[in-house]
Amino acid sequence: MINKNWNVHKFGGTSVLNADRFRNVYKILTHRHSQRTELYCKEGPKALVVSAMKGVTDDLIQAVVGAEKQDEGYKSLLQKIWNRHQNEITNLLTAADFREPLLEALKKDFTELHEILRGVWLVQSASQTIFNQVSGMGEVWSAQILNAYLKSEGRKTQWLDARDVLIVSSSGGRIIVNWEKSKVQLESHLKKIDSLNELEFLVITGFVAREESGAVTTLGRNGSDYSASIFGSLFHSQEIVIWTDVDGVLSADPRWVPEAVLLDEMSYSEVTELAYFGAKVVHPATMAPAIELSIPIWIRNSLKPEVRGTCIHKNAKSDRQVKGFSTIDKISLLNLEGTGMVGVPGVAERLFGALRSAGVNVVLISQASSEQSICLAIEESQGPLARKAIEQAFALEIQKNLIQPLQITNDISILAAVGDNMRHTPGIAGRFFTALGQSGISVRAIAQGSSERNISAVIDTKDAVKALRTVHSSFVLPHLNMSLGLIGTGLIGSTFLKQLSEQTENLKTSKKINIQVRAIANSKKMWLSENEIPLQNWKEGFERYAQSLDLKKLSHHLQSHYIPHSVLIEATASSSLTPNYVNWLNQGLHLISPNKKANTGSFLEYKEIRQAMQKSQRHFLYSTNVGAGLPIIQTLRDLKATGDEIIEIEGILSGTLSYIFNEFSGTFFSKIVCLAKEKGYTEPDPREDLSGQDVVRKLVILAREIQMPLEVNEVEVMGLVPEKMQCLNKDEFMARIQELDDQMEKRWMAAKEKNEILRFVASIDSSGKAKVGLKNLPHHHVFSKVTGTDNIVLFKTRRYFHQPLVIQGPGAGPEVTAAGVFADLLRLSQYLGAPL
Ligand code: ADP
Ligand code: ASP
Ligand code: MG
Repeated sequence: MINKNWNVHKFGGTSVLNADRFRNVYKILTHRHSQRTELYCKEGPKALVVSAMKGVTDDLIQAVVGAEKQDEGYKSLLQKIWNRHQNEITNLLTAADFREPLLEALKKDFTELHEILRGVWLVQSASQTIFNQVSGMGEVWSAQILNAYLKSEGRKTQWLDARDVLIVSSSGGRIIVNWEKSKVQLESHLKKIDSLNELEFLVITGFVAREESGAVTTLGRNGSDYSASIFGSLFHSQEIVIWTDVDGVLSADPRWVPEAVLLDEMSYSEVTELAYFGAKVVHPATMAPAIELSIPIWIRNSLKPEVRGTCIHKNAKSDRQVKGFSTIDKISLLNLEGTGMVGVPGVAERLFGALRSAGVNVVLISQASSEQSICLAIEESQGPLARKAIEQAFALEIQKNLIQPLQITNDISILAAVGDNMRHTPGIAGRFFTALGQSGISVRAIAQGSSERNISAVIDTKDAVKALRTVHSSFVLPHLNMSLGLIGTGLIGSTFLKQLSEQTENLKTSKKINIQVRAIANSKKMWLSENEIPLQNWKEGFERYAQSLDLKKLSHHLQSHYIPHSVLIEATASSSLTPNYVNWLNQGLHLISPNKKANTGSFLEYKEIRQAMQKSQRHFLYSTNVGAGLPIIQTLRDLKATGDEIIEIEGILSGTLSYIFNEFSGTFFSKIVCLAKEKGYTEPDPREDLSGQDVVRKLVILAREIQMPLEVNEVEVMGLVPEKMQCLNKDEFMARIQELDDQMEKRWMAAKEKNEILRFVASIDSSGKAKVGLKNLPHHHVFSKVTGTDNIVLFKTRRYFHQPLVIQGPGAGPEVTAAGVFADLLRLSQYLGAPL
């Protein structure tokens, strides 16, 4: 009776959203989209399973709920649904012959609906049958609309109401198809169609069916996909094409993971697992009917029919270990524990038996191997039902304190990774949980299906999107996402933004690092942006959108719920932000700072920051604190870590003072200082440099790097700012800066007479003796070889004893310092697992 070349096409809610989309469906069915043969709609009659227009099912359900609550709003909701259908039909069907009978039929349905809901209103309750009957009406209407439209286009088409054909029953929340009866019903229905052999289309209502009792039912939310595969099986379809609003099955829901990729091929079981764990792209039951007959299922985009889509079939191959990720929300976690469960056979059986009898669907189970506790996840709405069932089943044990009262935690989500190739591939779970750990996501329970086709983690719903993006980026198209904030828009901060903006694209494509600047602040204002700030013209945006600085808000904003890693760059010159470092780390931010203040507070404060780093597992990078972009701190760390012994560190650590003394030839010292300031080589107040304080800080940082608890005030310092000029404000000092000239000229002349040069040198030895000041050096000394803003450091160590290890190069200036900050950012991304 059923010939061999039927094909089933299913059109989801967005594919039949309005008149235009119905026209689009027609185009898909009758046009060729590409030269690739598999993209043609196959020859032969087509069964077209349709969903309700998007949103209609929700509105119908809302209307029933409203009527139950005696909320008058249900009437206007019905009116809205009617208006929508009437408008789209009028738009689609210009010929009255096709339009009017359809409008008549729908009007009749609406009159009946009003009556049904009036009844619900009166008794303030709707039976399951009424609920099912009403919620399935959207499909009944959209199928008739498509049928009328195809007819109006001269096509040979018929409408099949699945409520007359599909017989199902339900058990434990699952729909079971009565294949025998449904087949008989379908055949008898087809028999009644005149010239069946010439039929081009049979338009079928998705979602709806009938119970053995005769009551109308549905296949559950999103059930039209299931309708499609049931009819695919009944028709022995060559293939089943599910047309939706995405290009196919993607590696994750694109609403949460925009970088998700299209999966060309999948196995039936992979899709089933993914759908079971929340991927709404198909209903989880869809695969089963197709598996039996090995019918390939295509998932394709009705708005982009030129895209090939995903083919789900028996022999799907893939080189990926993990194919996709999904999350289910609105989950509750149940934890039953107690000594009374250890070694007692049948506890699990009783527990699950009780839940089964109460009709509670268990989504995930995880049992500790000690048998002390069983942890399981259920749908949140079934929490009260589950509590009642479990407390009844274990009443005796609870009463005797053998089992503790049941704990239920709400606002839980399950994150699942799915892929056939996960089997036999070691290390997948390790990578999965490491990625979650690095993003600071705590995992409440773990389950791995015995098929090893999935790993699931139970997490808090507030972390769900971030977790999804984290694991997605560590497996699929490995890349690293960072949410970045900058405080300090001075020379270094703005140069850094410029450098970053020039590299953003390159980092994305070649290094797979996606850095999204989402906050920019100065000492008074901040601009917080949900989306990536366009760095080319951040200044305009800042002018426009900046609000008053609120550090709490800024830190909270940076920790986006969907970006795995958050970084704050503190590029101010002030010490006012130092007290926030510990909190920032504890809140989960990684820190990068060219500002030396946080590292040069008391040693106790320094230690507190290290403890916070350890506790929060967050990084604080500050390689630019000494030598700007030069690898001074890193080298010292490496020497120490590899067991070398530091005997002495000596160097010119101030690019500013280096520049000043390289340029100074006896006269106009103050002019050289002003020039250095103009070039951006000095701190905003040049006395920070001239006093030697900046060098002192650097020396203290180096000392602390090798575990010497040196304090700033323990460094012997001979600065260049006379006492009388120390208490002036910055402007007063700049106005009187020439007063330095005399004294400096004298020192220079004295040195010259002895054939010596002047250099501002810092040193520390293994006993902790630390000195900073202007030094007379023989003219051939290695420090005489520096030029410009060069820094130079000599590390005299046990290994580098006769010839010290020397690092030399420009050590000041916005370009090199900003580049050093940038390098810290890239270093951080590597620590966080960015692909090399
Ligand atoms: P239809 O109305 O066509 O049945 P649905 O809205 O039910 O469409 O399903 C399509 C939606 O499923 C997509 O818009 C997408 O947001 C969501 N989705 C969830 N997970 C995935 C995934 N892994 N791949 C593709 N889409 C997904
Ligand atoms: N219209 C139904 C729903 O919204 C069925 C479906 O679209 O698959 O759940
Ligand atoms: Mg759907």
